Amino acid sequence: MFGTNTFYIEKDEAVQILISVIAISLALAISQGGFGLFTSFQGLKALTILLALFTLTVGTGFILHEMAHKLVAIQYGAYARFQMWTQGLLLMLALSFLGFVFAAPGAVYIYSQNISRKENGIISVAGPVTNIVLAFVFMALAVFAPVYTSNTNIWFIGFYVNSFLAFFNMLPIFPLDGSKVLAWNAVVWVAVTVVAGYMTFFLR
Ligand SMILES: [Zn+2]
Repeated sequence: MFGTNTFYIEKDEAVQILISVIAISLALAISQGGFGLFTSFQGLKALTILLALFTLTVGTGFILHEMAHKLVAIQYGAYARFQMWTQGLLLMLALSFLGFVFAAPGAVYIYSQNISRKENGIISVAGPVTNIVLAFVFMALAVFAPVYTSNTNIWFIGFYVNSFLAFFNMLPIFPLDGSKVLAWNAVVWVAVTVVAGYMTFFLR
């Protein structure tokens, strides 16, 4: 698979992506509903709805973010694959019962002898930029094709989640994407971070 430039998702990689999406959606659902989701039929019903909503909105944001890194890395001749972080997933689920979501499910690992600082920056910025684009897709859906569940336009969840994913990942803290973007180009880092920050904190 090295340097073939073809986009290929391995079977166990797909399984790990799927587990990560379910775990993040479950953690978000638990952070909203707590233990109550598991102690009654009504709770289980609410859990099912929350899981479906988060899988739809967070799932797409998470998968396309990671696949954007992978796609660009492969264009630079690298071998890249998603690797889940089991301890991170378990920590995330445990913390969700306290109402807090610490999303550290895993990352795309890049294997290459010669990736430049610029290439690494472009690979890194592809993830958050994907979330910004997705946020606007969800915004358009919210406006033109609203779907409501208990007074919430579900597409707005997709907008908020993707805006937040873009902003969070642009934080200049290693190993987050932002640290590699800043190391490459400060202007790009400021531009993407300001847009993501504006969307996250002002467009609500
Ligand atoms: Zn990323």
